[in-house]
Amino acid sequence: MATKYIFVTGGVVSGIGKGVATASLGRLLRNRGFTVAPIKLDPYINVDAGTMNPFQHGEVFVTEDGAETDLDLGHYERFMDVNCSKGSSVTAGKVYKNVIEAERRGDYLGGTVQVIPHVTNEIKALVQKVAIEQEADVVIAEIGGTVGDIESLPFLEAIRQMRTDLGYENTMYVHVTMVPTVGPWHEVKTKPTQHSVYKLREIGIAPDVLVCRCEVVMETEVIEKISLFCGVPKEAVIQSQNLDTVYEVPLMYEDLGLGDFVSKRLGLEHRPDQMEEWRKLVHTLKNPSNEVTIAVVGKYTSNGDAYKSIAEALVHAGIPNDCKVNVKWIESDTLEGELSPEYALKDIDGLVVGPGFGGRGIEGKIEAIRIARESEMPFFGICLGMQMAVIEYARNICGLAGANSEEMVQHPPYPVIHLLPEQKEVTDKGASMRLGSYPCNLVHDTLSAKLYGATRITERHRHRYEVNNDFREKLQEQGMIISGVSPDYRLVEMVEVPAHPFFVATQAHPEFKSRPNRAHPLFQGLVKAALESKQKAALK
Ligand code: GLN
Repeated sequence: MATKYIFVTGGVVSGIGKGVATASLGRLLRNRGFTVAPIKLDPYINVDAGTMNPFQHGEVFVTEDGAETDLDLGHYERFMDVNCSKGSSVTAGKVYKNVIEAERRGDYLGGTVQVIPHVTNEIKALVQKVAIEQEADVVIAEIGGTVGDIESLPFLEAIRQMRTDLGYENTMYVHVTMVPTVGPWHEVKTKPTQHSVYKLREIGIAPDVLVCRCEVVMETEVIEKISLFCGVPKEAVIQSQNLDTVYEVPLMYEDLGLGDFVSKRLGLEHRPDQMEEWRKLVHTLKNPSNEVTIAVVGKYTSNGDAYKSIAEALVHAGIPNDCKVNVKWIESDTLEGELSPEYALKDIDGLVVGPGFGGRGIEGKIEAIRIARESEMPFFGICLGMQMAVIEYARNICGLAGANSEEMVQHPPYPVIHLLPEQKEVTDKGASMRLGSYPCNLVHDTLSAKLYGATRITERHRHRYEVNNDFREKLQEQGMIISGVSPDYRLVEMVEVPAHPFFVATQAHPEFKSRPNRAHPLFQGLVKAALESKQKAALK
């Protein structure tokens, strides 16, 4: 069977959940047993998202093979339970880089290099390469930005051409729009959607499906009107309201018939939708028996998307624990001034100190870790969070006053965290960290090994600094356990404090591998410990 291509565009406004819509559609096809390869086409000039500020752009998501990508790839992985790869993220920067490199090599010798066909051909080639590499039945490609943006035009032109290249039966266009309500009676307005579709048609794309984000339930007349004006069959006008949990979106789409519509339209073999597992997990999410509150201390907490995968991993971890996980976001530098760490951590059942770069707010993080360690509050450190846990232990238990990371101060008296040897010569900032999946050996009988139920694991990484081996002995003498190391023993990958109900930290980013149907063991362990600590406190 020829690979089928679904292209998802967005209209009216940005931030209407196009990524979740794309991911949810992918789930419907995965539930029918198809191999789905998601791709994000991003019109920005950055070659990848690695150099982008999380304040502005949200989290940088890291794939198994070490690509630093847009956070939408996180939605795809979580909803579709697939692993994306470097090819799954195509930015304008990457496309132009390839085209310009080809021009310099002389590949187009004699020709004038132009947006059409050279740039559009490169976009098409990159999309089709993923289909081949991943042996996909269906490719779902989401185009970033909103229809009407100047910069997304080459991408839209490329996907328009793909219909001519590959045929009607192998391509379809899904347009995600907003249907706002206005006035005191919340009157539903279809005009912005109509205009967005006109704009798309101007480019030569007529949508096959409209996903309409709307705050209220759309009456039949509204659906009929959108169908008539936009030339989309009624059953393909899918209304999408806000739900209690994003994981319910695939269920809503399925119940509205989207899975069957898409399968039929693309001539995919009819297969039953196996939604049972998904329905069960959504049911647990919506009806939890317990509740805990976890504080997440970070540097970019004012952007709700900056720690997206951590937030989602905590939600997933609640599912096997039958527990709702509330998150209290704490901006790390507030702990150094206006908010005492003791006060901030009052009524909290567990603490996560998250990833980050640079020195702002690190003393607040270290203080929060000290409190968690001393008060036996479950603690989980992630990447920078682990480095801070090691600094805290070095300073307060090993007596190494002023211990620090070389990332934060130039010549600390005790550089317990220092640059990875392979980073010493690196000058470029893009794609130059220790990135992607690496193996790690866990020490038998440690909490880490018990949680994973294995002694050989792999996790994804994104860092330049590491624990300084000169201090390994000292830390261990004073009771810190190095529970995970790289197979060559060179790098400390995980630490824990045994005389504590749950004090675990990892140099990796386990949040990237957590899935709603497979909560990550470390997050699961943290939530379990938080719940136990809450229940114990209630008995006192
Ligand atoms: N800034 C630290 C490093 O580069 C930690 C990075 C992170 O938390 N992802 O090692």
